[in-house]
Amino acid sequence: MKLRSRHTLALATAIALEVAGLFPAAAVAAVPVSAPVSSLRGAATTAVPAATAFVTPLAGKSYTVSAWQGPRCMPMPGASTSHSGVDLATRNGSPIYAVGAGVVTATVSGSSSVTGHIDIRHTVGNVTYTTKYLHIWSATTHVKVGQVVKAGQQISSVGTSGNSTGPHLHLELWEHQAGGTKLLDPVPWLKSRSVDVATQATAITAKTAPSTCTYYTTGVVNLRAGASTATAVVANLAAGTMVTAVPGQVSNSFLPVKAGSRSGWIANWLLSPTRPVVPAPEPTPAPAPKPPTTAPKPPTTAPKPAPAPAGSSSAMTTYKTTAAVNLRPTASTVKKALLTIPKGKSVGRILASSGSWRKVTYAGKTGWVHKDYLKAY
Ligand SMILES: [Zn+2]
Repeated sequence: MKLRSRHTLALATAIALEVAGLFPAAAVAAVPVSAPVSSLRGAATTAVPAATAFVTPLAGKSYTVSAWQGPRCMPMPGASTSHSGVDLATRNGSPIYAVGAGVVTATVSGSSSVTGHIDIRHTVGNVTYTTKYLHIWSATTHVKVGQVVKAGQQISSVGTSGNSTGPHLHLELWEHQAGGTKLLDPVPWLKSRSVDVATQATAITAKTAPSTCTYYTTGVVNLRAGASTATAVVANLAAGTMVTAVPGQVSNSFLPVKAGSRSGWIANWLLSPTRPVVPAPEPTPAPAPKPPTTAPKPPTTAPKPAPAPAGSSSAMTTYKTTAAVNLRPTASTVKKALLTIPKGKSVGRILASSGSWRKVTYAGKTGWVHKDYLKAY
């Protein structure tokens, strides 16, 4: 495929040397490419090629840019309010490619509670960078720590592990500096290296952050005086109370919010961007037929329940999963999943709603799944 250039490494002129626990300005040295180098905390001896050619991390024209880097509104309870990378949404299982030559420095396989990722360290000129590829499931199918990869080499496949609303690649870029690492935006960085992530997308659904975000409390929630549960309770807010917050503002996982005329702090996992679904009303019996003027006849059938109003989750509607999805003990990703429901399985009716979460039963276990993975049938 033309986008996946297999750049020759013959011109590689430098390799990076990392000493365990130190960061590059102190530890990276340019040495002849043939020299063996111990790297990666005792892993295999590895020569790190200089990155000179770059590619998009997903095949061109196969993805949508769903979020840019920077301040944003939380897409789901507990998500970050400042987005640390660019999100490229595509089909589950799509190949992920190293954007440049480098060496694999971390492989963390994902689960419902762990955001899987692969880290690749690159040497560009005299600067060391790390690219991170998040939300993958298996981190070790294609690569292992210490392995040298080429630009465009497949390293993993797109998944939706950890705090994620659907299959996508979250790409991060870090520059190694004397004091540690600094977060950069991969989009302009790649663009300056002739890789335009935006024009290679089939669509861009990412929005620029609004001046305020609107959230709803996912349950009865305490509005607090500060960014911790140790601070005083300013008010007790009912479930579904609308609050606003400024994108990017967060402290200790608490968001500073305005709830009507009151200001305070609410833990981010108790706020959802989605207004909670109002539970469907109890089925009401059809009005009893008017007693006939002649001899009364007892009704032969029980009255039928009235149909549920359109748009509400009917007590009678059953749902199935649209992808493998985790059944959680609470309406958030905070707690470990009870089990993973395979794609296309019936979870019966929705027992309750909380924000974007729906309470369902599968395989004898009752828990919560994200509504985006459920479809009525
Ligand atoms: Zn992301």
